[in-house]
Amino acid sequence: MFDEKELLLVPGPTPIPPQVQRAMLKPVINHRCPAYEELFARLQEKLRRLFAVTGEVFVFPSSGTGALEAIVVNFLSPGDPVLVVSIGWFGDRFGEIAERFGADVTWLKLDWGTAATPEIVAETMDKAPKPFKAVLLTHNETSTAVVNPVREIAKVVKERGALLLVDSVSGLAAMPLPMDEWQIDAAATASQKALMVPPGIGLVAVREAAWEAVEQAKMPRYYWDFRLARKFQSHNQNPYTPPVTLLYGLDAALDLIFAEGMDAVFERHRRVRDVLRSGIREMGLELFVPNDEIASCSLTAVKVPEGIHGGDLIRQLRNKYRIEVAGGQEHLRGKIIRISHMGYVHESDMLLTLTALRNALKDLGWH
Ligand code: PMP
Repeated sequence: MFDEKELLLVPGPTPIPPQVQRAMLKPVINHRCPAYEELFARLQEKLRRLFAVTGEVFVFPSSGTGALEAIVVNFLSPGDPVLVVSIGWFGDRFGEIAERFGADVTWLKLDWGTAATPEIVAETMDKAPKPFKAVLLTHNETSTAVVNPVREIAKVVKERGALLLVDSVSGLAAMPLPMDEWQIDAAATASQKALMVPPGIGLVAVREAAWEAVEQAKMPRYYWDFRLARKFQSHNQNPYTPPVTLLYGLDAALDLIFAEGMDAVFERHRRVRDVLRSGIREMGLELFVPNDEIASCSLTAVKVPEGIHGGDLIRQLRNKYRIEVAGGQEHLRGKIIRISHMGYVHESDMLLTLTALRNALKDLGWH
């Protein structure tokens, strides 16, 4: 009976609200018909509001990594000097994509668990032999549960005339990222995170002022070509077959976000994070990111106590308590667990998780 009952607290896919699930029951329609064009137009308006951007929002059937690749190939040319600011696994991935496509990457790799600062970015940019064409930055680093000070970093990047290209796959709709106001040229996200939609949609928003760079970029691109997509978007169409069912879900999810209010959504994410963090501290466990200032509102990383393996803890939470959480990546494998609280998550989910975590640890012999 309980086969389908679980609390899904991995950093993507995240739980789907019933309103979104129901919206996806609608029959699939022809994407070359007026009803689809209406849906597309409605979505464009809502997505611009979500990214707080004047410009285009491109919607692809893909995961977040596809959206990152789309940014790289649409903004850069082979040989372009690019600064990649990486504070973890996903920052590395963004930079690796740029390298694979032939950008001349300078790495600013910072310790996992720390955030980048505007000072270090400014210093790195100033001492580079030639100006960077672009800076690649992660908004929320999911491998470490750290949020970067994007607004402050954006300031120093824009003062130095570079493009700012942001991976907000696990940040958008959980924490603010007003693109026009902060002068972010492009930002990528994916449906299965704070947007509360199943996996399968990758999104890239492009600020109007950055469009010129897309026209000038010379990296090879076919499927991801924003130039062609923009032509189609002008009459509410996509060049290739869109994931219609997921777009119904996205439409409903955006309604939920706007009905609650974007600021209220961000505030709820912060509250949920705080409930979890204070509970973890009270229990005598250690947070991987002790500094509240840089602690993500999307997810929280908790150190697994000495003598217990993270994999065992994850299995115990899954098998006995029906809570699905994620482990650490790379050198953090087995050492931390990551509890997501993005999207359709409430304080009560965290209270339940804290109790389950305490019990699971006891089951495994923790004091
Ligand atoms: N960037 C970040 C910050 C992410 O959290 C993720 C997914 N966890 C990705 C990129 C990659 O997204 P996907 O798995 O959807 O390709």
